[in-house]
Amino acid sequence: LKKIGLTGKIVIGMFAGILFGLLLNTLISDAPDSWLKLVVVDGVLRLVGEFFITSLMMLVVPLVFVSLVVGTCSMSDPSKLGRIGGKALMLYLITTGIAISIALVVASIVKPGSGGSMAGQDVTFEAQQAPSFVDVLIDMVPRNPINALAEGNMLQIIVFALLFGISMALVGKPGERLRDFFEDINTVIMKLVMILMQVAPYGVFALLARTFADLGLGELLGDLAVYFITVLVILLVHGFIVYPAILSALTRLNPAIFIRKMLSNQIFAFSISSSNAAIPVTLRTTTKRLGVDNKIASFTVPLGATINMDGTAIMQGVATVFIAQLYGIDLSMQQYLMVILTATLASIGTAGVPGVGLIMLAMVLQQVGLPVEAIGLIIGVDRLLDMTRTAVNITGDAMVTTIVGKSEDQLDMDVYNDPDAGLNAD
Ligand code: ASP
Repeated sequence: LKKIGLTGKIVIGMFAGILFGLLLNTLISDAPDSWLKLVVVDGVLRLVGEFFITSLMMLVVPLVFVSLVVGTCSMSDPSKLGRIGGKALMLYLITTGIAISIALVVASIVKPGSGGSMAGQDVTFEAQQAPSFVDVLIDMVPRNPINALAEGNMLQIIVFALLFGISMALVGKPGERLRDFFEDINTVIMKLVMILMQVAPYGVFALLARTFADLGLGELLGDLAVYFITVLVILLVHGFIVYPAILSALTRLNPAIFIRKMLSNQIFAFSISSSNAAIPVTLRTTTKRLGVDNKIASFTVPLGATINMDGTAIMQGVATVFIAQLYGIDLSMQQYLMVILTATLASIGTAGVPGVGLIMLAMVLQQVGLPVEAIGLIIGVDRLLDMTRTAVNITGDAMVTTIVGKSEDQLDMDVYNDPDAGLNAD
């Protein structure tokens, strides 16, 4: 087992979990009260999976805050922050725009909703009002930073950490003393991430086994099959072809290395369905495996987990076209543009947590005047899509982080090219 390495073990954990889950699914589907369901699925698997997820989430807020303070205060010139932030933001928005445009075009050609109709369907879904762009901006500054940390409000934590780190860089001695302190905490938390990664294969196994044991695969047949497959294929193309192409076009880095090093991170995000909870691992992959300096990654990774959701945008694009077709509504060019704009803006104000994509979809549908309750139709197959798009979302975050790192000369090529970098336990 030593030879297989951590990535190999995580891959095995994933496949074993999926197979075991599907087996459980056939065994318990006729007997929902059996001991298998009570003891194995809702007992052992739930316990191991939840332990794993919560211990990771426990690290997100302290790690983001501390690593960002360390990253900012060690910048020789804090005014660079504006340039780095600007580059990251632009790349995040452009890649999301590309993702949703591909989704809209493909969905218009495939026509996933043309076979079905809304007759006899009884569905409900409550929409939330989309926050205005100005509200999102105002809300970025925390009234009370302790509150922001307690609530895990990522954008507010980022703003506070940046301002705090900049001030530390400006005050001389006191700032240097604090920097040593924060650096030590950062090292300790990163160690904790590594320790948790060692149990990741078991965590991934338990999470996936439970998800697949409870999954109704029957929903995947029928009208929703084309929708499901369309989203899935575009997600895979985006993750494995579009991203590597953008990466190699903008940086000339070998994209195969990027793909290989992202694999365990992707499986991880897939099993926990949350870019936010995956931040510690994404931060570790980008810094220790891909070689991006913490100054860049500590800023762009949490920012990406919050504002960059290309996978989610893809689902929104296909879902909008699907629902319009089901209701026999033709979307105008203006409505298509509206979808792109709303989906991109909605992703800025929403955190990467499980299932949030559907809430954002409600905002998009409302904006273009499509029936929001139609979301009730696709909820049944959303679990698997949510998992897959989360993997795409974090791949986008890591790709932009790598591009910004390279363009700022903050990428260690030796680390990037070393296949074993970041694999040992320290
Ligand atoms: N679960 C996704 C994420 O955390 C968001 C979504 O599409 O629901 O990135």
